[in-house]
Formats: sequence, structure tokens, C-alpha cells
Amino acid sequence: AFNADAVPQAPEDPLFGLMAAYKRDTDPNKVDVGVGAYRDDNAKPWVLPVVKKADDLLRADPNLNHEYLPIAGLAEFTTASQKLILGADSPAIKDKRVTSLQTVSGTGAVHLGALFLSKFYKPSSKRTVYFSDPTWPNHFQIFSNVGLSYKTYPYFSKETRGLNFDGVIDTLQNADEGSIIVLHACAHNPTGVDPTQEQWKKIAEVIRAKKHFPFFDTAYQGFASGDLARDGWAIRYFIEQGFELCIAQSYAKNFGLYGERAGCFHFVTAPSSDAQSTVIRVASQLAILQRSEISNPPAYGARIASLILNDPTLFAEWERDLKTMSGRIIDMRKALRTKLEELGTPGTWNHITDQIGMFSFTGLTEEQVLKVREDSHVYMTKNGRISMAGLNKHNIDYFAKAVDKAVK
Ligand code: PMP
Repeated sequence: AFNADAVPQAPEDPLFGLMAAYKRDTDPNKVDVGVGAYRDDNAKPWVLPVVKKADDLLRADPNLNHEYLPIAGLAEFTTASQKLILGADSPAIKDKRVTSLQTVSGTGAVHLGALFLSKFYKPSSKRTVYFSDPTWPNHFQIFSNVGLSYKTYPYFSKETRGLNFDGVIDTLQNADEGSIIVLHACAHNPTGVDPTQEQWKKIAEVIRAKKHFPFFDTAYQGFASGDLARDGWAIRYFIEQGFELCIAQSYAKNFGLYGERAGCFHFVTAPSSDAQSTVIRVASQLAILQRSEISNPPAYGARIASLILNDPTLFAEWERDLKTMSGRIIDMRKALRTKLEELGTPGTWNHITDQIGMFSFTGLTEEQVLKVREDSHVYMTKNGRISMAGLNKHNIDYFAKAVDKAVK
């Protein structure tokens, strides 16, 4: 019989635990640099003006109802999502080599991909998934939940606070042929460190030589550099090179649609004479998996994104909103580096501006992280990651001084 008494207590999710501790703190100067959500210059959540506009349009539509979406989601949304990530003139789209399903945000897309691979990806009896070390911690849980075993490839160099490129190449080279390689398309979470285009080319070479399967996780397109094409470059390069791959796409950050759970999963087959029939078969299996998992995806966030993605005027407005968010984050990086250098904080701080996207790996030790929390009410994860979006004109001086004090 099932003995529920024997179910052990699970540890609290570290990030959500940190958020709760921040909420409980009554100090007026407290700073939240833990959570990965954009904040404006007043530390408030930001509804993108273009999202507000689309939301108003939807609400005014007398024909809007709450019927189920199809299993694969809103077709206008998934088609626009393909164009956004692959580029409108992508050879994969032209050749009809892509199949896409709307998912429960990026998490759901990673999960659907992992589930599909666990069922159908069988290059040999051994199949291992490789994650960067470190990575978004949920990767470990999502892939092990579907029974895939994982290893990691070194990614972050503690010395340079940049990419451990030799470590990446070496590990991918020595991995069993046909391993699944999870890659962050841009704005690597948690380090903020991305390969250069030259480095991506080398990574692609090894992946091809070893017949590995690339699995791209893209949660920050447009949010990282402010330029959608630039942030999509790595994926587009792999497609150009004729790889078969999958993509988990999130709209949480770049539309600020966190809680609406808008995302998309894409499977792209390699160019071949029967690519189209392969895609049709893959799509049929994905639909069955989706049906058993969620039946059909949530509608509202996808409707908002779809309206914006399919209307040139709204799209242009969205690109401006992306520049607002990415621009503010880049400004905060510059300001933080300058302030730490002015304070003479021990160490080098160029990595703050070299890194990109929402997060920066400061290099603070766990001890220092706990010290800034204790002494200055600054909340960051134990690995020293800060969300740049938590900084603003009002708290950046305070934050830099708090770090300075903890490091000195
Ligand atoms: N992948 C990565 C690397 C992420 O950083 C995130 C967001 N934290 C996600 C996927 C998915 O997030 P969501 O499910 O909110 O779209």
C-alpha cells in the first residue's frame, strides 16, 4: 500500500525561498537582485506599453471567447514564432522542415522537447544530455523527470569570469557520440557569458563531428542585446549549417508575459528529400504528447504575442520596448562597474560589462553573498548571480557600497 507518511520533505526551491526572505525583510533599503524578472527604474514590474496596447485591443474584441485552442496552439502564434527565431527568410521555413507547438512558456517547451527525445531519440543504448555547468537549475529536473541521464560540460571560468571555451570543446569532443547538447541561445543563465560567433562556429563543428543533437533554449531573444537577429544568431547559424535540432522558446522576458505562460517548441529536421514527411510524423507524435500533458496550451498570452508579432506597427513598437529594457540593463552594467572601480573594490570588474542579458555572475563567494544579505539586506542567489534588472538609479550606489563592504 502507498504510505504517504514515507514521503520525504523536499528542499525548498532556492530561488523562491530567497524571494520569500526578501519579502519578509522590513529594511527600507533592501535590494532584490535575486529574481529573474525585469524591473523598471523604480524597481517595479513593467508592463510593456505595446503589450498593454495589445491587451486593450483584445479586451475590446466582442468576438473573443474562452474556447480551447487546438492541441498545437494558436497557428498565427506558432508561425510567427518560427519567423521570429529562425528569421523570416529561413531555409528551414521555406523547405517546410519545421514543426512548432505552443507550450506552457519556456519551461513547457523544454519539457515537451525532453519528453519527445526520451521517447524517440535513440542513437544508441547510451544517450546522455549535456548541460553547461552552471545552467538554469530546472534543466536538471526537467530532463531527469523524463528518465534521461545527464552530465555537464564546463562553461564558466572562475579566473576570467568568462567562457571556459577549451573546457566546452574538450568535453563535447569526448562525450559519447550522439549526445544531446543543451545550449543557451543567448544571455546564458546564470552567467551572462555567451560564446562569440567564432566560438559558436567551433562548437557547431564539434557537435557535427560527434553527431551530437543540439537542443537550444532561448529565453532572452531581443532582451539581451536589444536586437532580435543578433540574439538569434547562434540558432540561425546552426540551421544554415543543416543541423537537425530543437528549440525551446520563451516569451516570458522579452514580452514581460511571465505569468501568462506563452512559449513555443520547434523541431527542425535536416534538409533531405523526405524532410517534409519526417516533420509531419514528428508533429503527429508531438501532438499526442501534448494532448496527454496539457491537452492544449493557455490562450491569452499567446494571443497578445501573436497580435504584436503579426502587426508591423506593433512589432516596431515592441522592438523599441526591447531596447528600453536591454538599454536600461546595459546602463546598469556600466554604472555598476564604474562605481566598483571608483570604490577600489578588490578584484577586476570588467566582467560586469562583458557579460550580457539579465544576469551577471559577480564572482562573489557564498560567504560574501551571505554577508551582503546580513549586513546590507541585499538578496542574491548563493552562486553570486545578480539580476541586473534589480538595480536602478536609486539603489545602485547603495548596492555597490554593499558589495564593496562584503568584498573588502
Ligand atoms: N530557460 C532558461 C535558460 C531560463 O532562464 C528561463 C527563465 N528563467 C526559462 C528557460 C523558462 O522560463 P519560463 O518557463 O518562465 O518561460
